[in-house]
Amino acid sequence: MRIFLPGVKQKKGEACKYSFQGKIKDYFDAEADDESSFVLEVTVRSIGDKIMVEGDFQAEIEANCCRCLRTFKQRINSDFSEVFTQTPLLDKKSTPEDLALETANQLTVSGDFLYLNEYLRQLFFLSQVYNPLCKPDCRGLCAGCGADLNRNACSCEKEAQIDLRLLKLKDFQSGNQA
Ligand SMILES: [Zn+2]
Ligand SMILES: [Zn+2]
Repeated sequence: MRIFLPGVKQKKGEACKYSFQGKIKDYFDAEADDESSFVLEVTVRSIGDKIMVEGDFQAEIEANCCRCLRTFKQRINSDFSEVFTQTPLLDKKSTPEDLALETANQLTVSGDFLYLNEYLRQLFFLSQVYNPLCKPDCRGLCAGCGADLNRNACSCEKEAQIDLRLLKLKDFQSGNQA
């Protein structure tokens, strides 16, 4: 994913729009499955020695629910806005892509192309949820028998409910005795 900067500069501050799409495993995470994919829409402007980039990154990845362990499609949606400063090419032996990688944290750009891969790779990893849920009210697995409580209530749960009622009954009885 790269932007040809002379084309952007020619527009003198006007917005240039680009869109990219592909598979997560090809760009961000080699271990991702075949289905996980992304769409990226970017608007690029050139103002002085600055390259302003606004992007909308959407991905659909395979994730495992932290409660029921089921695999589900998780949507990732990240908007970003960054300013890249153009710096002259220092080392003739380095390709512009090498330099873009080396200076990814400083957000500088050298040469004719702005490479977005490294920036987006970091964005992708930061925007992933640590404890993904297949749905907000996922009931998870029973700690007793391991049954998926989204699909069926297990007998442990019923026993636990009965225990609770017995406990209340006991309180009631001991209250009467006192
Ligand atoms: Zn779940
Ligand atoms: Zn159970």
